[in-house]
Amino acid sequence: MPKVDWIIEELVTANRILAREGIVDSFGHISSRHPDNPQHYLLSRARAPERIEAADIMEFALDGTPVDPQGRAPYLERFIHGALYEARPDVMSVVHHHSESVIPFGATGMKIKPIFHMGASIGHEVPVWDSHDQFGDTSLLVTDMAMGRDLAKSMTSSPTALMRGHGATVVGRNVRHAVYVSIYLEVNARLQKEAMAMGNVKFLHPGEVDKVRERTGAYGINRAWENWCGRAGREMQPEQT
Ligand SMILES: [Zn+2]
Repeated sequence: MPKVDWIIEELVTANRILAREGIVDSFGHISSRHPDNPQHYLLSRARAPERIEAADIMEFALDGTPVDPQGRAPYLERFIHGALYEARPDVMSVVHHHSESVIPFGATGMKIKPIFHMGASIGHEVPVWDSHDQFGDTSLLVTDMAMGRDLAKSMTSSPTALMRGHGATVVGRNVRHAVYVSIYLEVNARLQKEAMAMGNVKFLHPGEVDKVRERTGAYGINRAWENWCGRAGREMQPEQT
């Protein structure tokens, strides 16, 4: 199977998993850098993630221009994806979502930090990007490259960022990794809220976070991916390298 077709199937599966696991609802999206052209990326047309099919996946230049739209309407917030691929050569997949447990942290400025082993993949602490700082009153959506680039600046080395009053953006070294971090960002935020209501929280030490992240690879991620594929009614593809 050509690599691009393999990645398109991965993206369809990733959309279904993110919907099944409650990270996206009718909104939110995941992309992959194009495997044959690092200056392009692959992202669905504007559609609820649970409904996405292979024919919905479109190709874009990093500035958000569609390569062959065929009448398909793109997401308004696609600029998040291109700006991160432009700023971060290490990034191969981007998720943008509005998962519920992260929203209170963006609104209060209370930092999300890893509270348990599985949460280490979110980084030492999740930065908060506030569109109002640079752009004033907006619809809060990232609708051009200037906003996308400003968001990307807030996550120069972080795998995650919250967007005040809006949601979160997550990057990964491949599609499965970006989904993994997105799911555990939501779980960590939910558990952190519960723990904070009980009293002082003892977060993971930075050295512990580093040790867990060093160990987070295909061995663990594929185990989760197989399980999530089953729950979402999708076949797990054999890995391509
Ligand atoms: Zn959004």
